[in-house]
Amino acid sequence: MRQIDHFIQGYAGSGAGVRKHSIWNPSTGEVQAEVALGDASVLEAAIANAKRVQPEWAATNPQKRARVMFEFKRLVEANKQALAELLASEHGKVVDDAHGDIQRGLEVIEFACGIPQALKGEYTNGAGPGIDVYSMRQPLGIGAGITPFNFPAMIPMWMFGMAIAAGNAFILKPSERDPSVPVRLAELFVEAGAPEGLLQVVHGDKEMVDAILDHPAIAAISFVGSSDIAHYIYSRGTANNKRVQAFGGAKNHGIVMPDADLDQVVNDLAGAAFGSAGERCMALPVVVPVGEDTANALRAKLIPAINALRVGVSNDPEAHYGPVVTPEHKARVEGWISTAEAEGGEIVIDGRGFTLQGHENGFFVGPTLIDHVTPDMESYKEEIFGPVLQMVRAKDFEEALRLPSEHQYGNGVAIFTRNGHAAREFAHRVNVGMVGINVPIPVPVAYHSFGGWKRSGFGDIDQYGMEGLRFWTKTKKITQRWPDGGGDGSNAFLIPTMG
Ligand code: NAD
Repeated sequence: MRQIDHFIQGYAGSGAGVRKHSIWNPSTGEVQAEVALGDASVLEAAIANAKRVQPEWAATNPQKRARVMFEFKRLVEANKQALAELLASEHGKVVDDAHGDIQRGLEVIEFACGIPQALKGEYTNGAGPGIDVYSMRQPLGIGAGITPFNFPAMIPMWMFGMAIAAGNAFILKPSERDPSVPVRLAELFVEAGAPEGLLQVVHGDKEMVDAILDHPAIAAISFVGSSDIAHYIYSRGTANNKRVQAFGGAKNHGIVMPDADLDQVVNDLAGAAFGSAGERCMALPVVVPVGEDTANALRAKLIPAINALRVGVSNDPEAHYGPVVTPEHKARVEGWISTAEAEGGEIVIDGRGFTLQGHENGFFVGPTLIDHVTPDMESYKEEIFGPVLQMVRAKDFEEALRLPSEHQYGNGVAIFTRNGHAAREFAHRVNVGMVGINVPIPVPVAYHSFGGWKRSGFGDIDQYGMEGLRFWTKTKKITQRWPDGGGDGSNAFLIPTMG
């Protein structure tokens, strides 16, 4: 059985007695590997390395740090196909989607290549008589990232790309369900010229996460995962005086106005609701047509489009989407479909009990459409995270605006319309962090920033872009005055006064 171990400089390897977690191949339903689950002593070994290498890395000029980023980008690109296949085999998403996972992470690495420009501080010449004021961004020291299973390449790169370029050492605790690609990325980072010990990977579950939360040498933690855990990470991490950003679950709505191009909407929904088996925090699992005519017309077009979706193994190039990640998750998604039915939702297309011929043990869920869902239903309030599209019919624009605004999650939302005024009004008033206008998955590009609101995001600072840089640095403000040193004491140091 393939063994996956921590990536820690000088680490002797986990012995036979340690706790292990099984890694599935979700397409076949077989266990394909085991990952070692670490504890506080494993973390200690990583911290010791990080402490040793971080000061020198921080003192390395930013253009040299950028060169490591450039080389890392080149190496990831050169290894992309192998990385995508490995990722798909552990996660279950199709290889094409796995390429997207890597690509969106690489775009943050590209942004991090511009670190010399991004790190330039502010300067005021002559803020008072002979007085200049300037600011600089300094790294925090050691940062940690705790990441979810659903983007095992992109989300680690969001975090360590910015943290390390800014001068920090970084310890990554990836999901124990698909840990191989994060380890490969750390290996490639060393190959790119980074000092060993700068980017390390520790594996584990709650025990390791708690060790990270409590370790005094870790200055900041970035977390992405489900909301209850995000809230826990935020509370315990900030109680320990760390800087924490913790992003949680989602239930993104797509509002369809009566004037929308319905063919385009159906095409967008096929990708946004079902792609990656719905296991994306920016998926679009709720569609809100405005008016009964819109709802009926949309439903008529959606049914054949959903029935035409091809479910397949992750390396089937024709497959639209693959299996979900574990057998427990398959049972959970099917459980939510049953709950929706019991609550009065109409199961228009039922994905429960789906099996793929030749792969009967794979964790597949068929595409599902549920109509007449209402806001009081538990299946509407909670995240399903599967290939399930729920339709909530709204009578007018105001009702459609209220639904995502009042939902507990506030990650992403989209509106489909040809009316600029409606779109503008919606974008300004909706209580959600990321908005798409005729864009179903509005993940901002790497030079903007990413972050949801309400129970989708705890903490004040977004991921990546200049926000990411702010998260991984602290600002030092310097007010300077250089007396002329004339020697007669007339120019003794004065406390500067402004204005
Ligand atoms: P998860 O919360 O189960 O796990 C995330 C991380 O937390 C993993 O590294 C895991 O080991 C750790 N963890 C799990 N249980 C823990 C516990 N009790 N104590 C401490 N740590 C624990 O999430 P997941 O199932 O891996 O990922 C899916 C979730 O992530 C979904 O809710 C999805 O919406 C969310 N997500 C959010 C975003 C975003 O940007 N908002 C992006 C991707 C995924």
